[in-house]
Amino acid sequence: MRRAKVVCTLGPASEDRETIRGLIEAGMSVARLNASHGSTEGRATLIERVREVAAELGRPVATMVDIPGPEVRTAPLSEPVELAAGSRLRLVEGDTHDDGLLGVSTSLSGAEPGDRVLFDDGRIETTVEAVDGDAVAVTVDSGGRLDGRTGVNVPGVDLGLAPVTEADRRELEMAAAAAADFVAASFVGDAGDVYAVTEAIESFGADLPVVAKIERADAVANIEPIVAASDGVMVARGDLGVECPLERVPLIQKRVIRRAGEAGIPVITATEMLDSMAHERRPTRAEASDVANAVLDGTDAVMLSGETAVGDHPVRVVETMTRIVGDVEASEEYAASRDRRVPAAGDTRTDALARAARYLARDVDATAVVAVTESGYTGRKVAKYRPTVPVVAVTPDEAVRRRLSLTWGLYPRRLPFVEAGPAELVERSATETVAAGVAESGDTVVVLAGMMTDLEGANTTNTLKVHLAAEVLASGRGMSAGRAAGPTVRATEGDLTDCPDGAVVVLGEPFDGEFTGELSAVGAIVAADRGTTSLPAVVARELGVPMVGDVVLDVPEGTVVTVDGDRGVVYESDIVGR
Ligand code: PEP
Repeated sequence: MRRAKVVCTLGPASEDRETIRGLIEAGMSVARLNASHGSTEGRATLIERVREVAAELGRPVATMVDIPGPEVRTAPLSEPVELAAGSRLRLVEGDTHDDGLLGVSTSLSGAEPGDRVLFDDGRIETTVEAVDGDAVAVTVDSGGRLDGRTGVNVPGVDLGLAPVTEADRRELEMAAAAAADFVAASFVGDAGDVYAVTEAIESFGADLPVVAKIERADAVANIEPIVAASDGVMVARGDLGVECPLERVPLIQKRVIRRAGEAGIPVITATEMLDSMAHERRPTRAEASDVANAVLDGTDAVMLSGETAVGDHPVRVVETMTRIVGDVEASEEYAASRDRRVPAAGDTRTDALARAARYLARDVDATAVVAVTESGYTGRKVAKYRPTVPVVAVTPDEAVRRRLSLTWGLYPRRLPFVEAGPAELVERSATETVAAGVAESGDTVVVLAGMMTDLEGANTTNTLKVHLAAEVLASGRGMSAGRAAGPTVRATEGDLTDCPDGAVVVLGEPFDGEFTGELSAVGAIVAADRGTTSLPAVVARELGVPMVGDVVLDVPEGTVVTVDGDRGVVYESDIVGR
């Protein structure tokens, strides 16, 4: 069971149903839709498709619409142009392309002589010679083949672009209508840019979490306010390595991961993680180490871009990535680095309880922590303190469940709260750890329940509890108090002659006959009878053994079960005294 999540960028190589299914089965938790390519309508269809396939597989998978923001691109070109080193070029706003003239999506007139203009992730470098009105004359320092719609970076220069463009607004309108799970905001420079994206989303009547992409030098400088304004961050190393000196990227990655960890928001490490696998069947050693180191740094998620969007074998790449993640997470080195990274308790009560849950789980030897979370807040708080055991986040809301799939360590499950009272909710949430396959019946779990505003008179607000995870075999009505475990014996005719000591007597039909044989061997009764004055109920109370009535228990003869007469529940296996 992996803790760090995998984000996959979908594209022509992975947009079909079968590949999406393969990606989810291989470990994709979040599907990223890059709005720099394809069409807005295409993305709306994809969001629906990902949800349908995820629902078929019963897995929570989030969708993230990545808006281009104030990016600059070259004009569309009918064919690539060859730029020779030493040649001169005039850059103008628009779709023009002529000898010595190249169109770009926005005016670069904010640049000054000496500034650098870089194309295609810095592969082609030029220097500004002169600015003449809207036109910028550059000399090519290192040349190459340049495609249309290629990214252009002017590091350190404010081109005066609005943080949300018209194209972004169209994308956000679609994301709001399709209820995408995240919006990734490109080229933010400060917290104000993040708020501008949030405001635009709100103008379309939606409330979608915003993941700020850290890819500009000023975003690195403003990381604290950006983290405070965002629901998540991405170390977008592609543009970051062009906007900032390349050698700074590794440490920026570590710092951003640490800041996000302290704030308890998810952080994604992105770009070129397994780049060579776009065409190769195996990654380079450096790439394998890169994924491993991001996991050791404590990232919530690792991201694939071209590898899954346009690569030759997207599913294989995800399988490779999850293998690397799994291997690192099983290591002593990972355990040690995780223990060193537990942040100091934040100043909310939920922070203090979530931190306590981590250590409580360790001290009572719990198998899992359960976060009962309505909005996702409590789930993220529990993950913030990086518990050593799996965290099952139980929520009534499917959208919250999907969003939590980006957060480190969480296994999100859906459980409707409406009918459940607070105590029952804690009980059923603990049981979800068994359903999730992270605990077995009878295991100890630590439950942290957050604000349950939907529950009347809920006293579960900020409850931390050591609980038993038990598989509920049947629920009925408690008719005689106490808790006992034993092997089941079917005694339809009331014959208890061969009853072993401490047997759980099962009566499949309402019974008003007579018990014969060894009554003192009865340890508990499970009966179909509904009334508290029925014969089995009277006998159970006279014998002082627990009974659950109004229930049909269908298990093989001799199965060891626990009868809880107080709760009216029959559990799998012997959990008495645990
Ligand atoms: C990046 O620059 O690393 C990134 C993730 O953004 P994009 O893929 O949009 O360039």
